[in-house]
Amino acid sequence: MTINETTQYLPLIGVLFYTVLIIMPQIRRGQDKALATWLLIVILLSIIWEFSFFLAPQIQYPNFALTILLLSTLAIGGTTSSYIEKRPSKKMATLVTLAFLSVILVNLLTPYRYFVFPDGTHLLITNGTLLAYMTWLGLSGLILSRTWREYKNTLLPWHANRLLYWCLSLSTIFLGEILIFTEQFFIVLAGQIIRFIGIVWLAYGVSSYRIFDVRTRTRRTVAFLIVNVLSALPLILIIFLILTFSQELQQIDQTNTLILVLVIITITVGFFLYEPYRNIIKRITYKFLGGEVFNTNQAIRNYSQASARTLDVQQLSILVIGTLSELTESNRGALMLVTKKEDGSYELETIPAMGSVPRENVTFAYDDNFIAALSLQHQPLLQYDIDFNPLYADIGDGDREWLKRLEMEVYIPVSDGSDIDGIIAIGPKSSGVPFQPDELDLMQTLADQTVIALHNARLYSELNNQNERIRHLNDDLVEQNEKLEVMDRVKSDFITIASHELRTPLTQVKGYTDILAAMNEENALTREQTREIVGHVDRATRQLETLITAMLDASQLDVDGMQLTFVKTQIDTVVRLAMEPLAQALRERRIALHLEGVEELPPINADFKRMVQAFTNMLGNAVKYTPDGGHIHVIAALVPSQITEEEFIEIIIRDTGIGIDPRFHELIFEKFFRIGDPQLHSTGSTKFKGAGPGLGLPIAKGVIEGHGGRIWVESEGEDEDRLPGTSFHIIIPVTPPNTIETIQESAASKAASRPSYLVG
Ligand code: ADP
Repeated sequence: MTINETTQYLPLIGVLFYTVLIIMPQIRRGQDKALATWLLIVILLSIIWEFSFFLAPQIQYPNFALTILLLSTLAIGGTTSSYIEKRPSKKMATLVTLAFLSVILVNLLTPYRYFVFPDGTHLLITNGTLLAYMTWLGLSGLILSRTWREYKNTLLPWHANRLLYWCLSLSTIFLGEILIFTEQFFIVLAGQIIRFIGIVWLAYGVSSYRIFDVRTRTRRTVAFLIVNVLSALPLILIIFLILTFSQELQQIDQTNTLILVLVIITITVGFFLYEPYRNIIKRITYKFLGGEVFNTNQAIRNYSQASARTLDVQQLSILVIGTLSELTESNRGALMLVTKKEDGSYELETIPAMGSVPRENVTFAYDDNFIAALSLQHQPLLQYDIDFNPLYADIGDGDREWLKRLEMEVYIPVSDGSDIDGIIAIGPKSSGVPFQPDELDLMQTLADQTVIALHNARLYSELNNQNERIRHLNDDLVEQNEKLEVMDRVKSDFITIASHELRTPLTQVKGYTDILAAMNEENALTREQTREIVGHVDRATRQLETLITAMLDASQLDVDGMQLTFVKTQIDTVVRLAMEPLAQALRERRIALHLEGVEELPPINADFKRMVQAFTNMLGNAVKYTPDGGHIHVIAALVPSQITEEEFIEIIIRDTGIGIDPRFHELIFEKFFRIGDPQLHSTGSTKFKGAGPGLGLPIAKGVIEGHGGRIWVESEGEDEDRLPGTSFHIIIPVTPPNTIETIQESAASKAASRPSYLVG
């Protein structure tokens, strides 16, 4: 067989090699389907390409092999897109397809046309070949540059390493292809081998999620080569010197004894010097190329001493992350506290120590792979593994997203072997070099040293929390006690007030009827006197009636709330009616009343009479507790709900009166509560600071709440000199829930007469 015949069969060996390669991507479980398919297409095209060399003479279409190669470059582009998880833009895809189609067209239509320069000379390759080369160059350059850009933009070193590896494989393939284009037999052969190696690497990249650390491995290989070449140099020098001298010495000493002695001395001295020399070379080379070497023992000793003294979780976080980041040159990290909850899930609380780390807590389900892997395997887990190792494919999307946001490179469990207490998270090294196995070991050793310290710190912080809680409880108890004391006072005040309030009109009735009886006995009663006495009795009984009605209303609140009848009600009518009985007092005491926005309110569904009652009570209070010459504002507005589509009306009754001490802001809504001396009896409904029975506000509150609304008071405090004033806020829904319109609007206005039960 001649050389030519042998070379004819070489492509078949290529076919064989590529065919074997098909198995590789099938090895990995749970891998990315699209990626594996793309790679399969690349390999299949490579097989066809090799075949096309073998079949070259039979194929009519010129540049068949080159076109298939171009197609496989396209498939490599697809594989790369899938690998870096970035789809090419539509514009780019169209451009590439057009270029490829034009290569086919030019080769089909003008197969043997050469590019002719104006001076008549022409290129040695056809237009079709030239176009194919140019398309190949553009396409491979594009694929390589995209991967490189992605590599440069990737922060986490292990993630970046994966892309660097891909860049390296792509460069190898493209280098091989360039060599094949030379069409020189041995160079083409070398090109074929190099391309095949590149494709093998590509297949390895697809089939294994864990790729060796490219940079460190390259550096170590270079270091190994340098050390060995430099170590060999003196040996070569010695042998060379001996060879040179021995010829000259042979002339002096024919017996060669001298040469023998010289060789023995040189070899002995050489051996003495060789070891230290190699060590120096090794040290210098590895210092620059072998990666950092650190004093782990010292670091662990310092750390365990310091951590034993730390009782605060935050300080411990700073200490452990500080030590680790100093050793590994990372500038990001946090300690996470892991708490197992009753339902078996784990809550993670981040205690940031370095870099801006999100602080929100997160809960991992009890069967989540992340926590399970850390506590079961008891070894560092890389973010890279979480992203690419099929073992962790089950981690929930939310948890995955949270972990991604932390931007950490590795998670180290802090666990005593049974349950996990914490996780140390460390960010990427500032140099961008991935963490090495010995560094990960060191991290785990430090994490193991942290177990007891973390235990203690957590117990200590729990103790502090308990103390804090007890202190709060104590404060609460004091507060409750004070409230109880006041309530107790209210209860005894009730008897005093009720008896006083009832006795006053009763005494009057009794007194006047006695007078009436006595005068009648003596026949001394004139018509005029009778009318006057009956008038007094009438007033006193009306006062009694009012009081009893109020007491009944108030007691109704306790039993089943207010019985309300809802009709369309205009708030400005309510306010006007409520003000009517106070008009004279306002004039006499020169108190100005200002209404704002009341008229603009829409009608609401409400119990008209009860509303008038509530407003009379509150406006009466405003008059009573505002000194002469003051102001009362009634401010109203329509407010939409922020949650539902419901609408509310807000009414503020603000006075420039004496104000209310914040201690009583809730109590004034209690029945029979009034600030001040309970011995005082009612002294009129409009006099400044005139005492009342303490029923006005509880009834107003009952009415407002019966409408599904809320009432509360705001006031800086009580001060008769400064007059801070009081604001009562009322919020009522325009359509209270479960209300039925029972009476028409017109009927409601007709009913608008002063009710007999008003108090205040
Ligand atoms: P009263 O019948 O005594 O007016 P209320 O229930 O209406 O009873 O009010 C309870 C207490 O709230 C009053 O005794 C008074 O001390 C205080 N109060 C009510 N409204 C005002 C106000 N606008 N300014 C100051 N104090 C007020």
